[in-house]
Amino acid sequence: MKVAVLPGDGIGQEIVAQAVKVLQRLALPLELEEAPVGGAGYEAAGDPLPEATLALARAADAILFGAIGGPQFDTLPRDKRPERGLLRLRKELGLFANLRPAQVFAELAQASSLKPELVAGLDVLIVRELTGDIYFGEPRGISTLASGEREGVNTMRYRESEIRRIARVAFEAARKRDKRLCSVDKANVLETTELWKQVVTELGKDYPDVELTHMYVDNCAMQLVRAPKQFDVIVTGNMFGDILSDEASMLTGSIGMLPSASLDERSKGLYEPIHGSAPDIAGKGLANPLATILSSAMMLRYSLARPAEAERIEKAVRKVLGQGLRTADIYTEGCRKVGTQEMGDAVVAAL
Ligand code: NAD
Repeated sequence: MKVAVLPGDGIGQEIVAQAVKVLQRLALPLELEEAPVGGAGYEAAGDPLPEATLALARAADAILFGAIGGPQFDTLPRDKRPERGLLRLRKELGLFANLRPAQVFAELAQASSLKPELVAGLDVLIVRELTGDIYFGEPRGISTLASGEREGVNTMRYRESEIRRIARVAFEAARKRDKRLCSVDKANVLETTELWKQVVTELGKDYPDVELTHMYVDNCAMQLVRAPKQFDVIVTGNMFGDILSDEASMLTGSIGMLPSASLDERSKGLYEPIHGSAPDIAGKGLANPLATILSSAMMLRYSLARPAEAERIEKAVRKVLGQGLRTADIYTEGCRKVGTQEMGDAVVAAL
């Protein structure tokens, strides 16, 4: 089993090193090979997705990704910026389905910004379409009108086939859970999402055992903080999913706890924490590595067909939280504050 390890920028190096340690402890026949991406790719090869990195990612069975970006890269031409590297990687590998579980570990209910009783036991899965929508639609750009005024343009587009394949992933996921799927759109204003709603409804006929509901994105944003436990699986487009999954992440207490998977049609996947490169804490040993460690567990489950090992990692994380170890982002009174490496070591020890 070959895994491409792409740490990226900022805290990427620190957190991926912990996940690698955990994977190595499992003593599986895993071949781990590292390559630069994002700002690190630009510095190494003048490209946020160097050819050699893309080739490695193509050849691998799965990709373990850290995070990309940083203020030092913000002035680069747009096509050289770190974010382009990740967007291109997703596009090149056809990673269209982003699975973002938001679970609240009982030990962390206190760390949520919501009342513990609203989030204790929360288990939502957000399924976000990843390769279409306004992030990729053409035409796009900033131009100067005849009047001299500048105008920015992006285009929200979805083809029926793109909607159907992501909706299928979501229905299948719902089938394995509580069998409830909420499709999120803005069909009252945007034609693109009116089509979204129609296609999801049509596909719903193939899944009579799954209860399908629809919700406008603004209402969903509100419901997620009002009564988040009403949801089982949420499916939505790229931009709405980007925002709603970050909102859901805060329900869990920390963005540093949430893993994600981005899958292609054959379940090859890229696994990454949902957070960014956190330049404010990079290099300080403060970053929470658990989202990345939990991402490696998802990798074992979805791409490498090793569910037992995935569960071992998840249990080890729960054990460490049960022992009261906390990085600064999830720290509450009475717990023991630890750094990135100590948290990684504790998970290895728990394994
Ligand atoms: P961010 O997720 O990097 O950070 C937001 C806040 O959460 C910061 O205060 C940070 O310190 C904290 N945080 C994030 N991860 C943490 C962890 N593991 N442990 C503890 N605290 C953590 O988002 P941002 O500040 O908006 O963006 C910073 C850079 O990351 C930008 O360049 C952005 O483009 C990039 N970014 C990359 C990705 C990705 O690689 N997939 C995603 C989002 C943002």
